[in-house]
Amino acid sequence: MKKALICGISGQDGAYLASFLLQKGYEVTGTSRDVRVTSLKNLDRLGIRGKVTLILVDLTNFQSVLQALQNVRPEEVYNLAGQSSVALSFERPVETMESIVVATLNLLEAMRLSKRATRFFSPASGECFGDTDGKPADEGTPFKPKSPYAVAKTAAFWLVANYREAYGMHASSGILFNHESPLRPGRFVTKKIVRGAWEIANGSGEKLHLGNLSIKRDWGWAPEYVEAIWQMLQLSDPQDFVIATGETHELMDFLDAAFSFFGLKWQDHVISDPTLKRPTDLTVGMANPEKAHRVLGWKAEFKMRDVVRMMCEDMKQQEAKRRLARRAPSPLP
Ligand code: NAP
Repeated sequence: MKKALICGISGQDGAYLASFLLQKGYEVTGTSRDVRVTSLKNLDRLGIRGKVTLILVDLTNFQSVLQALQNVRPEEVYNLAGQSSVALSFERPVETMESIVVATLNLLEAMRLSKRATRFFSPASGECFGDTDGKPADEGTPFKPKSPYAVAKTAAFWLVANYREAYGMHASSGILFNHESPLRPGRFVTKKIVRGAWEIANGSGEKLHLGNLSIKRDWGWAPEYVEAIWQMLQLSDPQDFVIATGETHELMDFLDAAFSFFGLKWQDHVISDPTLKRPTDLTVGMANPEKAHRVLGWKAEFKMRDVVRMMCEDMKQQEAKRRLARRAPSPLP
């Protein structure tokens, strides 16, 4: 049985990857900054909480990382932990850098010192490219990061490439474009939109406040992206890959899809709020995932409208369940 260590197992990708690896017969250990206080609702949602081993690891502390690797002795390490919001990175740049760059370096250094043949995955981001002047970014496109988050992801990308070259380690980065799901935390715009549209459709009477409505992004379906991540570590030679759908859409199209699902017109309910705009923002995210298709045989099946529909359907189902649970009679004394 192969052993995998997933750092950040409580997050969207960590939870989906854990579920995927369990189905493949892996023994899965997952890290969290604090397993006693962190929300494990994503593991509950996927029904896998009791099937994984959870350990507390501070990825910014080398000793803690080294100990975890020595105890678990995994064949594959997936680092899906870290501050993952571009917007928040402007407010918490130091935490962002530490949780991404220092954590990646600690993992690489601990794996190098442990001298075991461990394979390592690190998530870079489409944000690393910055604006590409209307050209789809591929693995050869230079990075021009426009946020502390993207700067941190770019630094982590180069650390991975350097350790691979310098020490022959099996370490790769997936340059992941946006990928969404019902497990996306509420602070992300896609989840805000789906929740906002549902609440308005159910009579909240609120307006939905968003930042820049003119952005364009490549939105995919998270459960598919973790399959690409796993496939990367099964290659005999480690390489980096752009993982994306290859389709770019306006945020307004995303709004349209979500609000129409609930029978609403987004223009009647959404306000572009200048206080929510970022100091610098990527206008257009555009990707060419051809290498992933050619080398990994991976292609995104679900595109933006599928993603919106699945998120909206899930929102409806979950809320219906919650209502039923609230209405259920309390047990007899
Ligand atoms: P996520 O849902 O936000 O999960 C990240 C996890 O990291 C959290 O559950 C948290 O777990 C842990 N964490 C460690 N240090 C943290 C910190 N300082 N602040 C917040 N959380 C911290 O992220 P995701 O969407 O699964 O993404 C996984 C990785 O892929 C991240 O590195 C992200 O930047 C990258 N990525 C994601 C996308 C995307 O569209 N989703 C695109 C490109 C790259 P504990 O609280 O249990 O420690």
